[in-house]
Amino acid sequence: MNKRTLCVSLLALAGCSPAGPVGSPVAPGGGPPQAGGRAAASSDAPTLAISETRPIEDMHRRTIGFTESGVWISNELDGGRVSDAWQEGDSEFVVHLRPENSPVNNSAWYAFKLWSEDAKWIEVTLTYEGGSHRYWPEARRGGEAWAPLDSADVAIDRNANEATFRLRVGPDTLWVAGQEMMTSSFFNSWTDSLAREPHISKTIAGRSGRGRAMPMVQFGDPAATKHVMIIGRQHPPEVTGTMALLAFVEELAGDSPLAQEFREDFRVHVIPLVNPDGVDLGHWRHNTGGVDLNRDWVAFNQPETRVVRETYSEILADPGHELWFGVDFHSTQRDVFYTLQRDLETDPAGIIDPWLDYIDTHLPDYVVNDSPGGLATPTSRNWFYREFGAPALIYEVGDQTDRALIREVATTAARGTMEVLMQEAQRR
Ligand SMILES: [Zn+2]
Repeated sequence: MNKRTLCVSLLALAGCSPAGPVGSPVAPGGGPPQAGGRAAASSDAPTLAISETRPIEDMHRRTIGFTESGVWISNELDGGRVSDAWQEGDSEFVVHLRPENSPVNNSAWYAFKLWSEDAKWIEVTLTYEGGSHRYWPEARRGGEAWAPLDSADVAIDRNANEATFRLRVGPDTLWVAGQEMMTSSFFNSWTDSLAREPHISKTIAGRSGRGRAMPMVQFGDPAATKHVMIIGRQHPPEVTGTMALLAFVEELAGDSPLAQEFREDFRVHVIPLVNPDGVDLGHWRHNTGGVDLNRDWVAFNQPETRVVRETYSEILADPGHELWFGVDFHSTQRDVFYTLQRDLETDPAGIIDPWLDYIDTHLPDYVVNDSPGGLATPTSRNWFYREFGAPALIYEVGDQTDRALIREVATTAARGTMEVLMQEAQRR
């Protein structure tokens, strides 16, 4: 029995959906597909306006010392976000959080480090402005790995829009964040480590609005005309999407016979960090232009989306070169694949359904959520389709999906990509 579920588009309104965030304008329809299955890019002014640069509040970076209690709380770390902090009792502290600008999707990111002169238990209450508590806390001490806080040490008060964490602090620094932290330095070292393999090259695709590197890795036959293009982390807090991207790319780039055969006929391009400023500055959603980058794929008002457009368009500009698969990794409340409506004809055709079936068949206990959508919103998926006619999707991972399962699903999805694309290539 096929256990794939088909979601109606309305369900996609939650979290990191192709639909607009609450309180912000939603793009008008992009019009019906034209001959060849491609729709013309809408030039309607409202679509273009939703990604026009607007001001952001640059967070004050500082370490606050509460000298009487001997506790320090700091946002001076890449990815850090604490808008304000104060003490409310002997061992009770408040961390207040605001987004970079509003309106903004409710991805209320927080990240800070803290320590104290003497080892003791304290309570830190997060309060929110412009959003509400979303992410279960992850913590890391010294050289240890990140681990979720124990549920006995977390109290979430939805009515008061607060979350209180009981934390054991001491002279060793404790990091607390909405997800395991993966900032620019992580992406730089991950892409460096991939590029130690002789068949993988690393370049800098371009730079963000504030000059941060957007690394790119490429592998597969340099003469191949069939391309796979991958991007990720347009939305800063969406770390579980990054975890899936890592596993997906590592499988495509790996040593398996399947991957080696695949790379003889295909070339893969990966820009894993499209919003390095937002990630390093601890933003909830936007770049330093105050814009949701995944609403800028028609207007291209922002430097980061322009980097991807120019890099990928140049690769595909040569006659005969085709995009066979485009995928953009994100996170939301649950695992879901935002595919294209099946009446939108792609070239190659018939990729997505066999791909979903492959995952379904190879992971019998995993429910594959398929949520097809149209072209109304100026997302990367719709750009891959409009510009290149390619099969494309947004690969969404739940905020709290088991980390081992994220890797298992993404690895399977990568194998499915290789199997299905090679079958289509052989069929031609
Ligand atoms: Zn997202």
